[in-house]
Amino acid sequence: MTAAEIVVVGGGVIGLSIAWRCAQRGLAVTVHDSGGDDGAWYAAAGMLAPAGEAGFGQEALTGLLVESAARWPEFAAELGRTTGIDVGYDTTGTLSVALTADDLAEARRLWEWRRAQGLGVDTLLPSAVREREPALSPRLRGGAYAPDDCQADPRRVVAALRAALGPAVVRNRVEALDGPGGDGRVVVVAAGSGTAALTGLPVRPVKGLVLRLRGAPGLLRHVVSGWADGRHVYLVPRADGEVVVGATQEERVDATVTAGQVLDLLRAATDLVPDLGECELVEALVRHRPATPDNAPLLGAYGPGVVVAAGHHRNGVLLAPVTADLIAELVATGKSAALLDAFAPGRFG
Ligand SMILES: Cc1cc2nc3c(=O)[nH]c(=O)nc-3n(C[C@H](O)[C@H](O)[C@H](O)COP(=O)(O)OP(=O)(O)OC[C@H]3O[C@@H](n4cnc5c(N)ncnc54)[C@H](O)[C@@H]3O)c2cc1C
Repeated sequence: MTAAEIVVVGGGVIGLSIAWRCAQRGLAVTVHDSGGDDGAWYAAAGMLAPAGEAGFGQEALTGLLVESAARWPEFAAELGRTTGIDVGYDTTGTLSVALTADDLAEARRLWEWRRAQGLGVDTLLPSAVREREPALSPRLRGGAYAPDDCQADPRRVVAALRAALGPAVVRNRVEALDGPGGDGRVVVVAAGSGTAALTGLPVRPVKGLVLRLRGAPGLLRHVVSGWADGRHVYLVPRADGEVVVGATQEERVDATVTAGQVLDLLRAATDLVPDLGECELVEALVRHRPATPDNAPLLGAYGPGVVVAAGHHRNGVLLAPVTADLIAELVATGKSAALLDAFAPGRFG
């Protein structure tokens, strides 16, 4: 499949990244986006965490996460050079911490498995953790440092991609894929949770609540991902004093912010970093992660003239660079990279 004209359906972080890479190859691109900030990207914390997100039994996905993390420095630099927008790419690394002895036992199993996969995870004594991050609770039982787990600000990334694409992004909700192929035209479906309605592929919404706090810049130096009495929470500090606190994960389609979930997130966050209690609560927001039955994305050709890039679940921001490069290559040259083999859209039958 090669194309002279690309229609991308969905202007979230995935669709925009693909469109940008296609435009750089000289292809005529239009992005149709139903618009605004209803995509998962608007809630995303922006952790780029190949080690932190590597899970038991997900070796192919872990390989893709690692590959995309390696492409992030150039992706961020190029976007910055093109648009003048700093996307907040930060390489300070991530501290993974455990509050209680039970939390530590649970965390150690994961750290050891991740190390066995060749991922960068250095275990630290509590004193060394607090030396790196003085705002952490003195009650902490242990931690680990993942130097390759970085972060970027997804809202800035999308702003930069929109700026790079300019009028190629149009506000339009696509109701159906009518006669997509033919005459060198290829449709790339990158509609996040909206992909199921357009293609029938199994992409389901997974509800996630995040909070945004604002305090003094510099309260935290690293992204902190931790367990506090069995509750998992992550804290993503931005240079301007914002701290993203996340996230719940529920198989639900509603967008209700419940008091109990806000309380759970804040309790875990302040157990790990007591001074967060002094911050202003700026935002409590629900969006839906686009997930698949095996929680890995759907990437590749799906019928004549149709390519799918969806279902990035918890890692769409991290996976944007590799997805964009490989899908742009597929539509421009017809060549499907070997890295895409494990993610064929039709793999569920
Ligand atoms: C709470 C939370 C925290 C997260 N944290 C992280 C993180 O730290 N790191 C990370 O890598 N990932 C994170 N994610 C996941 C990440 O946000 C998603 O994987 C990513 O946004 C998926 O990108 P996407 O472009 O496929 O979908 P989306 O970001 O959902 O964008 C889809 C776009 O398609 C549009 N659309 C849908 N249907 C149609 C249609 N029919 N016609 C036209 N347009 C349509 C929508 O309006 C939307 O703009 C998080 C997600 C959530 C919810």
